[in-house]
Amino acid sequence: MKNTLLTTSHAVARPQIYIGGKWCNAQSDQRANIINPSTEEFLGEVAMAGAADVDTAVAAAVAAQAGWAATSGQIRAGYLRAIAEGVSAQRTQLAHLQTANNGKPLSESMIDVDDVIATFHYYADLAVELDAQQDQLVPLPSADYRATLRREPCGVVGLIVPWNFPMVTTAWKVAPALAAGCAVVLKPSEITPLPELALAAIIDQVALPAGVFNLVTGSGTEVGAALVAHSALAKVSFTGSTAVGSAVMKAAANDLKGVSLELGGKSAALVFADADIEQALDIVCGGIFFNCGQMCSATSRLLVEKSIAENFIARLKQRIDTIVVGDPLAEATQMGPITSAQQYRRVQDYIAQGLASGAQLLTGGGRPDGLEKGYFLMPTVFTDVPLDSAIWREEIFGPVLCINTFENEEEAIRLANHSEFGLVATLVTGDTTRAKRVSAALQVGLVWVNSGQVIFPQTSWGGMKKSSIGRELGPWGLHAFQEIKHVIFGMPERA
Ligand code: NAD
Repeated sequence: MKNTLLTTSHAVARPQIYIGGKWCNAQSDQRANIINPSTEEFLGEVAMAGAADVDTAVAAAVAAQAGWAATSGQIRAGYLRAIAEGVSAQRTQLAHLQTANNGKPLSESMIDVDDVIATFHYYADLAVELDAQQDQLVPLPSADYRATLRREPCGVVGLIVPWNFPMVTTAWKVAPALAAGCAVVLKPSEITPLPELALAAIIDQVALPAGVFNLVTGSGTEVGAALVAHSALAKVSFTGSTAVGSAVMKAAANDLKGVSLELGGKSAALVFADADIEQALDIVCGGIFFNCGQMCSATSRLLVEKSIAENFIARLKQRIDTIVVGDPLAEATQMGPITSAQQYRRVQDYIAQGLASGAQLLTGGGRPDGLEKGYFLMPTVFTDVPLDSAIWREEIFGPVLCINTFENEEEAIRLANHSEFGLVATLVTGDTTRAKRVSAALQVGLVWVNSGQVIFPQTSWGGMKKSSIGRELGPWGLHAFQEIKHVIFGMPERA
């Protein structure tokens, strides 16, 4: 049975889950409606599975694990490349589907699909390299012994992802897990499961061995919690909010399974007086209004050097007031709606808190004129934001930028680091020496210098403090799904 989701309009969803290489009904008949955030229209129904379905999915993954682990990296790479090609063949449909479900402009969904393709190809290359690396000799200080290093898959893994980058966050986990030789159970967000269902349909077509990839849709409190609690899992790789990440880590501690956590952020953009101002304006706008600000890596705190602040903020306002908000399928649109009614209310609540905090509203704050339906919000900017206010300290996860100024480099670093999060930072400066010095001082996992929000499969993703445990992407993304084993032979070898 092939999924019709991609070949029909994106108003069709599949209320089924994917276990052991087959589409099947969840054990209860509970379903949830999926809503298009730009029209508030019904997109389709998905299954709200439960703990019993998680048991079945994990059992299928456990049955597949040994066989998958025994395949060569070359074989696994072949499957990853086939998935990349399947995604490539459905590029436009997948982008439309994600935009319908998540609300981001179609051009941004295209970027996401391309990232997914690149990620599967990258981990296919690493899977091939694994074959050559296996049983590598480890130099020892003694001729009496010979040691080799093995990298083995850690076992069956649970993968839990959010709604802001449904396809990308999924690819960043599924591709390295499969490359490492792990069988997986994936749980998409209950808000945006359609892109992952479409990805499952592509994986179904490449005919991975049954049980290597399983997908269970449902709520975090039922399916997510049951997955994290499952004793047959070696590890949970979670991307989502810091609060839920903390709960996941606590639950995983019960049987000491491993966790990788990619969590929230409240990142800073630092604009120095020696910056190229046009470039700085582009970077600042992209850092907070791309994906309607619903990015863990949003640079939602802007720090501008005082000597240029007045002019920079005036030009920033001019620029922001031209941002086209509206139908994410329209070519001219630069910002779509917020992804869900719940998140829309949350962001509005933060704007109200900002107004009450004494911060100055520079622009935005409400619904754009002429857009009566959909979870649309104007790009919103506050200046003179109190450093102890919720809008300065907490992740808003919407198109809300908070601005303060700094006198000198030392103050810029201190303000940027004054956060419980430490995911990324952007700095815009014409001084390379300063860029190196400031990059070294920032307590984050990734610094963009005169750039922003660019990500490559080759560079790591993740941060410090409450933003992450571990790293995704690059070889680190693969290592997260591997165990290290050394074998030490006494010499002369008798085995
Ligand atoms: P969320 O924490 O509410 O949900 C994330 C996922 O966890 C969903 O699939 C949800 O169903 C599931 N879940 C909820 N409760 C659970 C539980 N008790 N046990 C197991 N799973 C559970 O996050 P969200 O609102 O979907 O996503 C937004 C958050 O994700 C933001 O904080 C954002 O910063 C973060 N995020 C981080 C990164 C990163 O790479 N650091 C990337 C994207 C999003």
